[in-house]
Amino acid sequence: MDSILAPGLYIVATPIGNLGDLSPRASEILLNADVVAVEDSRVTAGLFRHLGAKGRMTPYHDHNADAVRPGLIARMARESVALVSDAGTPLISDPGFKLVRDARTAGHAVTTIPGPCAAVAALTLAGLPTDRFLFLGFLPPKLQARAQSIEEIAGVRATLVLYESGPRLSACLSALAEGLGDREAAVAREISKKFEECVTGTLTQLAARYADGGPKGEIVVVVAPPGEAAPASEEDADSALAEALTRLPASKAAGEVARKLGLDRKALYARAMEMKTPSPAEEKSR
Ligand code: SAM
Repeated sequence: MDSILAPGLYIVATPIGNLGDLSPRASEILLNADVVAVEDSRVTAGLFRHLGAKGRMTPYHDHNADAVRPGLIARMARESVALVSDAGTPLISDPGFKLVRDARTAGHAVTTIPGPCAAVAALTLAGLPTDRFLFLGFLPPKLQARAQSIEEIAGVRATLVLYESGPRLSACLSALAEGLGDREAAVAREISKKFEECVTGTLTQLAARYADGGPKGEIVVVVAPPGEAAPASEEDADSALAEALTRLPASKAAGEVARKLGLDRKALYARAMEMKTPSPAEEKSR
C-alpha cells in the first residue's frame, strides 16, 4: 500500500453548512485516505465533488455498523481509514464511538481532525455561560420520557445544549420551561448557512414564538444554568443549626450547615455558641 497517510483511523470533522469551514487538514485526509467510512454516501458525495476527490467511500451507519466494523478495524492495520458523518464532528450524536473503541483495543493509531460541531458553534452564539456545559444530544420525542430526562438534569449547574427538529421545537421549549423553570435560552438555527439566526429569550417566550409551526432547518437549543438559589434566611439557618446541634458539637454543626446552606462558617459557629449558652432567664429557671 503506497498511501501517504500512516495506517490507522482518522476522525474527520466536516462542515455543518458552509464548505468554507472544511479545514485544509480535513481535505488532505479525505483526498488521501485509502477508504472513507461515511454515514450516507449521497451526502458525502457532495463534499467529494467539492474537493475533486475520487470514490473509496464505504457506508458506516447505525444499521450496518456492527456488521462492517470488524472489517474496517482489520483494514486499519495496513490502510488509512477516515470516518466522516453527514455533517460536523463524527461521534457527536452520530455513529463512531465503537469504531474508535475497537481501533484502540486493536492497537491502531487514532487521529482526530477537529472542526465544526453544531453544539459548540451554538454555544458560542448564545451569549450564555460557557464555563460549564452539558450536551444532551436529542431529548426523547415522547412526552413522558422527555419530561423524565428534563427532570434528571434540572439541578445541574451548567448551561445545557441540545439538538432539536423544527416541528418539535415549541413543545420541547415548553417542556424545558415546565421542568427547569423559565430560564434564559437561545435557539440557534442554520448555523454557518445563508439564513443563520440565533434568537434569545426566556424558554416560554421562545416556545410562544415558535408555536405556529416549527421553523425550517437545523436547530440547537441552549439553556442557561439555574439561577443562584435565594440566600438562606436567619430562621432557616437557626433551625438547621438547632437540628445539627442535637447530633454534633458546635464547630461540626456550624461546618455542616455552612456547607449545606452556603453560609459563613465562623458566623454560624458564633451563633451556635449563642444557642448553646442558656439565656439568663433560662439559667434562672433551672
Ligand atoms: N455531528 C454533528 C455535529 O457535530 O454537530 C451533529 C449531528 S446530529 C445527527 C444533527 C443535528 O445537529 C441537527 O438535527 C441539528 O440539531 C444540529 N445541527 C447540525 N447542523 C446544524 C446547523 N448548521 N445549525 C444548527 N444546528 C445544526
